[in-house]
Amino acid sequence: MSDHITEYQGSATMDKITSLAKRRGFVFQSSEIYGGQNGAWDYGPLGVELKNRIAGNWWKEMTQLHDDIVGLDAAILMHPRTWEASGHVENFTDPLVDCRKCKTRFRADQIPPENLAAKKCPDCGGDLTDTRKFNLMFKTHIGAVEDEAGIIYLRPETAQGIYVNYKNIIQSNRMKIPFGIAQIGKAFRNEIVTKNFIFRTCEFEQMEMQFFVKPGTDVEWFNEWKKRRWAYYEKLGVRMDSLRWHQHGPDELAHYAKDAYDIEYLFPMGWKELEGVHNRSNYDLTRHTQYSGKDLQYIDQESNNERYIPFIIETSAGLTRTLLMLLCDAYDEEKVISEKNPGNDEGNARGETSHGTGGSADDWRTVLRFHPAVAPVTVAVLPLMKKDGLAELAQDIRSGLKEDFATDYDQAGAIGRRYRRQDEAGTPFCVTVDYESKENGTVTLRFRDSMEQIRVHKDELAVRLYQEIKAYRRIK
Ligand code: ATP
Repeated sequence: MSDHITEYQGSATMDKITSLAKRRGFVFQSSEIYGGQNGAWDYGPLGVELKNRIAGNWWKEMTQLHDDIVGLDAAILMHPRTWEASGHVENFTDPLVDCRKCKTRFRADQIPPENLAAKKCPDCGGDLTDTRKFNLMFKTHIGAVEDEAGIIYLRPETAQGIYVNYKNIIQSNRMKIPFGIAQIGKAFRNEIVTKNFIFRTCEFEQMEMQFFVKPGTDVEWFNEWKKRRWAYYEKLGVRMDSLRWHQHGPDELAHYAKDAYDIEYLFPMGWKELEGVHNRSNYDLTRHTQYSGKDLQYIDQESNNERYIPFIIETSAGLTRTLLMLLCDAYDEEKVISEKNPGNDEGNARGETSHGTGGSADDWRTVLRFHPAVAPVTVAVLPLMKKDGLAELAQDIRSGLKEDFATDYDQAGAIGRRYRRQDEAGTPFCVTVDYESKENGTVTLRFRDSMEQIRVHKDELAVRLYQEIKAYRRIK
């Protein structure tokens, strides 16, 4: 249902996001010189910083801010029985149809039901094949011989690595229920349709947290985690009217799920899943008990050594999909009416002085309004001029900030143009070094969102930046 809504309030379109991502080195097509590899993308200098920061922010949220959650980094390759136990070998399939005429391949659940019923292609009207099941797991072989015994899968979700380690973690870290295990890592799915840039890819990253609870408390914990995940996006400064909940109906529920909600985001192509919050019941641990022969019951010392298989509440977000969401959410284009020129107290809206803003009153700027906690570069240091020792002073200031912040340095071109470059990369703060800086040690601190400029002593910059990051509120 949600797939067909296409309204979008922001000014981002998928084309604009894709081209900005390439132009500024966020995301490149994989193996582009060979014509590209379907479903795979490479993260360039700004993209990898953004991705690492999103991951770091999520990790901090889950582990540092929750005393009852610990981390894990499990291998991508797991014993093949894992995927039999999890139900993926049998059930992790998408329904597939092909058009006999134009040869386009569709996921049967993603085309209008009337086309499916009439077996008519939604693109060209040609005949569709019968629906058949297609397993999304990538299968390969381990060892020198390519036989049945060597079959191994690339994991389609990170969660199973958590389940098979849950007893290890209880024992090594003396965890008591309720507790959670968080993990970030690659997952692979042989997706039938990989369109919309990095939205749906064959290789992607997930940020998953599995929370182990006593049966009977699962509904309460499920609601609690729904609240926490909603609050997380609010804290990240996401436009909350672009987020909504979608509950899975009976025919959407995965084989393991007792209840499931998705957090959907209004992407340029419509409302789409960003994260799943699932009540996975005791399905996974029960199945691993059966398939491994190991007793995975929890012994509850606080409840007369009662034994039970915990229920699991899962929060499952795509890291790369969150990156796309943040690119879309942060994207803005606006008319720049007045931007003061550092080192000139009267300011000059039109950039007509020798160190002008490099634009006219009618300039448009593209700005990525990332929260400073995830912006690829936190602060850029810009000397107003290269000469008269300003470049050296700016480099010194940058060196002083490097230990604590992700910094950039740019001395090329008019200052206004340099601001635009930083706006487009989503850098929340610029520090401009001018002649006054040489005299009294003050610099201009310029804010990306408001374009406001204030003077700060260079020795107070780091503390000021910390305060600004903590106090950051999105204004638009
Ligand atoms: P869909 O039904 O859209 O294929 P799903 O419901 O199977 O997705 P989950 O298994 O719940 O997705 O995966 C959890 C999260 O992992 C998703 O919310 C999404 O953010 C991310 N994710 C899943 N598949 C992909 C993919 N192919 N590319 C990028 N991210 C993905």
